[in-house]
Amino acid sequence: QTIGAYFDAVAAGHPDRPALISRHQQIRWTYAELKDRVDAFAAGLLALGLEPGDRIGIWAANCWEWLVTQYATAKAGLILVNINPAYRTSEAEYALNKVACRALITAPSHKTSDYVGMLRELAPELAGAQPGRLAARRLPHLTLVITLGEAAHAGCLPFAEVLTAGGDQHRARLAEIGARLQFDDPINIQFTSGTTGFPKGATLSHHNILNNGFFVGEAIGLQPGEKLCAPVPLYHCFGMVMANLGCLTHAACVVYPAEAFEPLAVLQTVEAERCAVLYGVPTMFIAMLGHAEFGRFDLSSLRTGIMAGSPCPIEVMKEVVSRMHMPEVTIAYGMTETSPVSFQSSTDDPLERRVSTVGRIQPHLEVKVVDLEGRIVPRGEPGELCTRGYSVMLGYWDDPERTAEALDRAGWMHTGDLATIDEGGYCNIVGRIKDMVIRGGENIYPREIEEFLYRHPAVQDVQVVGVPDTRFGEELVAWIVVRPGAALTEDEVRAFCKDQIAHYKIPRYVKFVESFPTTVTGKVQKFAMREAMIAELD
Ligand code: ATP
Ligand code: MG
Repeated sequence: QTIGAYFDAVAAGHPDRPALISRHQQIRWTYAELKDRVDAFAAGLLALGLEPGDRIGIWAANCWEWLVTQYATAKAGLILVNINPAYRTSEAEYALNKVACRALITAPSHKTSDYVGMLRELAPELAGAQPGRLAARRLPHLTLVITLGEAAHAGCLPFAEVLTAGGDQHRARLAEIGARLQFDDPINIQFTSGTTGFPKGATLSHHNILNNGFFVGEAIGLQPGEKLCAPVPLYHCFGMVMANLGCLTHAACVVYPAEAFEPLAVLQTVEAERCAVLYGVPTMFIAMLGHAEFGRFDLSSLRTGIMAGSPCPIEVMKEVVSRMHMPEVTIAYGMTETSPVSFQSSTDDPLERRVSTVGRIQPHLEVKVVDLEGRIVPRGEPGELCTRGYSVMLGYWDDPERTAEALDRAGWMHTGDLATIDEGGYCNIVGRIKDMVIRGGENIYPREIEEFLYRHPAVQDVQVVGVPDTRFGEELVAWIVVRPGAALTEDEVRAFCKDQIAHYKIPRYVKFVESFPTTVTGKVQKFAMREAMIAELD
C-alpha cells in the first residue's frame, strides 16, 4: 500500500481518535481533523503546479505542519526531502541542489535560526520574486518557497494560503494520482545524520518506511489511542518513521512536546498528557534523568519506549526502567538507509536482554555478520553487520558510487557497524568500524570502555575516542561529563580502571567537559572530538 491510501484508511476507520498533539502550538487533532488539513494541503500543492515526482524540501523544527506535509506530499506523489533544521546556508544549498528541490517549506524564523533570512542570503532574488516563480542563480531548481504560518514574507507563500489554494478539480486530481502511485515509488529523501562526515541522501519508498513504522510499533505493542511522546526531530527517521508512521499504523497519537528537545518540556508533556510511550536518543534520557527537577514529575503513565540512535549504555537503560517507570523499555538499532530499524527488542523479551542488546532482527529481514573479506564469522564473534530485505533504501539520490559502496549486488546493506549476534539471535552493537581504535596492535572498541566508565558514580556521560600517537599508533581519550555536585579527577579515573580493565584500554588522556559535540539529533560526533583533541595535543 502507499502511505496516502493507508492514511485515508486509518482516518476513515478511526475518525475520532486523537492523532496529533503539538504542545508548543496548542494543537490537538483527531484523525478526521488531521485528514482535513492533509487533503487541503495536498490539493493546494497541486494547485501550485507541483507534479508527482517533484522534490519538495522541508526545513523546519517539529510542528504540526511537518506532519501535515508528510502525509500531503505522500498523497500528491511528491518526494519529500527532509532538511536538518540545524543546517546553515551552505549545507541547505548543498541539500537543495543535490536533489533538485522545486519547492521548499520553511519556518520564517525560529529561536536561533532565521530560515527566510538564510534563504535571502542564498537567493537575493527571492525578495523581488513572484511567489512560485523564483529564479535564483545559486538555487537554480527552486521555484517556490512556502513559509509556515499566516504572515506574508516577500517572495514566499504562507502555509495558510496553500491550505486554501486547492479546488475541487485538484481534489479530483489527488484521487487520480493516488490510484496511479506504486508502493515502491520513491517518496522520501532523508539525509543521514552526518555523524561521521558529510550527510548522504537516502532515497526511500512508501513500502520501505510504512512497513518499518508498522514493525516498530508492533515491537512495543502500541495500542490505538495510546499517546507517544516524540521529542526526537521529525526531519530524522526517528521522528518521521518511528514516531509518526509508528503511530499512524497503530491509530495511536503522536505528541510533540516542543520544537526541539528540552528536558523539562518532555517531562511536563509526559505528565500532563499521560503518555504511555517515550522515545529518545541516549543523551536525551541522560539529560532528563540528570535534571535537577526530575523528581517533581509523575511519570507513572509510561509503559514503554525506545532508546536508539547511538550506543545505549546499560546503566542508563536500568535507570530508565527504575526511575522513569518504563519496565517495558526497548532498544532499537537502525540507520537512515534501512528505513531505519533493523533490530529491536520487543516488550516480550526478558528485561536483561532488553537493556543490554538491540534485540533481534525484525520480521522479514535477513542479517549476516562478516569479516573484512566478506566471509561470515562464527556466531558470537564481531564483524560488520549487513542487512537485507524490504527496508533497504532504493539508493543514495544521484550518487551511484556511494550507493555501490553501501549496497552490494545481492542487495545487502553494509552498515559500517561492528556487531556480534549470540545463540538466541540477540545482537550487540560493538561500535562503528570507523571508531575502532588500534593501539599498539590491539583492537579496542571504545564502547566497552564507555560502558565500564558509566559505572563510576560521578560519571554522568562519557565518550571515548582514539587520537593519533607516534609511539602506539593511537591513544585513547575519555571525555567525561561529571554529575552535578560530584567531583572527579584524572587520577581517580585511571585508578578506577586499574586492575579492572586491561592496561592498554585505560584512557591515556581524560578531559572533563560540559557536553559533547553532537548532531541536532543529539548524536555524538566522535570525529569532531578527535579533531578537537588533535588540535589540543599539538
Ligand atoms: P552518517 O552516516 O551521516 O555518518 P549516521 O550514521 O549517524 O550519520 P543515522 O543513519 O542517523 O546516521 O544513524 C545510523 C547509525 O547510528 C548506525 O549506523 C549506528 O552506528 C548508530 N546506531 C543507531 N542505533 C544504534 C544503537 N541502538 N546502538 C548503537 N549504535 C546505533
Ligand atoms: Mg551512517
